Amino acid sequence: MQLAALDLLNHHQLNPSQRALGEALRPWVEEQIMPFASHWDEAGEFPPQLRKQAASIGLLGLGFPEDMGGTPCDMVGRIVATTELCRAGLGGLNASLMSHTIMVWPLIAAGDKAVCEPILKRIFAGEAVGALGVTEADGGSDVAQLKTRATAAESGWSISGSKMYITSGVKADYILVAARTGAGGAGGISLFLVPGSSSGLERQLLHKTGWWCSDTAALYFDNCLVPHNHLVGKLDHGFGLIMQNFNAERLLMAAASISFAVVCIEEAWAWAQQRKTFGRTLMEHQVIRQKIVGMIEQVLPLQSWLIDIGTRVDRGEACAGEIALLKNAAGKAMRDSADEAIQVLGASGYMRGSRSERIYREVKVMMIGGGANEILNDLAAKQLGLI
Ligand SMILES: Cc1cc2nc3c(=O)[nH]c(=O)nc-3n(C[C@H](O)[C@H](O)[C@H](O)COP(=O)(O)OP(=O)(O)OC[C@H]3O[C@@H](n4cnc5c(N)ncnc54)[C@H](O)[C@@H]3O)c2cc1C
Repeated sequence: MQLAALDLLNHHQLNPSQRALGEALRPWVEEQIMPFASHWDEAGEFPPQLRKQAASIGLLGLGFPEDMGGTPCDMVGRIVATTELCRAGLGGLNASLMSHTIMVWPLIAAGDKAVCEPILKRIFAGEAVGALGVTEADGGSDVAQLKTRATAAESGWSISGSKMYITSGVKADYILVAARTGAGGAGGISLFLVPGSSSGLERQLLHKTGWWCSDTAALYFDNCLVPHNHLVGKLDHGFGLIMQNFNAERLLMAAASISFAVVCIEEAWAWAQQRKTFGRTLMEHQVIRQKIVGMIEQVLPLQSWLIDIGTRVDRGEACAGEIALLKNAAGKAMRDSADEAIQVLGASGYMRGSRSERIYREVKVMMIGGGANEILNDLAAKQLGLI
């Protein structure tokens, strides 16, 4: 049941093309994803043809250059699309279907065109899966300390080391891997495009709290050889490329968290209208409707902040500090909404199949991935001139 007050497509700042994009995606998500969401998550995967379908409506390449197979779109449009996709209340689908979005920008901006262009086209056409491999078991937040090493070999680059918690890591046809090529610290890191079929690459599926239909993997590189022209960007200049990627990732994670919060509110509201206790619907009990209004109160201003930041990003403004704060606030709103929704749903909300139950399990990754809350607070402190 759709709550008009929380429907982002009603936001007064959207222009007609942004609204039209959302209106086009909505029935696709309602018909092709929502009825199967629980089943796919329990099965630990979604059908591979969904990727092709998503490509055919332009979703996979949204916001990326047309000559690379992408679909031109501004940041607010990407926010609208993420919001619509996440209305299915299936975080693993958003993570896995869109995992390439965190690895393609460096390829577009700095990769060897002859190597990257055909690969990007295949990814945006839903024919290949892309993943980003930065995090290592020894530490994710402190990217500058990563240890996986790439050394120059006669026929290319030889990569040895490991990566951890990599989204789409099992399925990926191409992985953009950050490896040390120079001295310690941020200055000695380079990016390499590693085909999934490379010898010396092994993958292990990891089991996790939520996002079940998204494969998360540990990757092991043992003298994994890639050609010279698979170095993406200049040698030892990978750190800057990784950092440039983060703002869009964080803003879209905020959009996702807000959308998941709305799903929880709507599920709780629908239940509260039909469930009767003590001769009245839950909604007729003041405490319950106060709870639901409290959830709306937390989420509504975040939607406006989201669109406002998106609009300023589209104007070319640097909003890194505010994006960091918004991502944290959105994660907390998702956590609180899932928690309160399950309270309203009672035991039925604790059962598998309830969207709020699934979202409750998916909250933590939104507070850890793409920059953990503590790291983003520190970033905001710097960006906002506090220190
Ligand atoms: C489901 C899932 C999917 C993921 N997908 C990917 C992916 O596709 N690619 C990829 O590269 N990575 C991925 N990650 C990894 C993710 O980016 C990292 O988990 C994240 O960067 C945090 O790193 P960490 O888990 O090693 O935590 P750590 O860096 O060890 O931090 C642990 C805790 O300490 C806090 N902390 C650390 N340093 C400080 C400090 N200086 N001050 C205060 N607090 C601090 C952190 O905020 C955190 O709460 C994924 C993670 C998950 C869970």
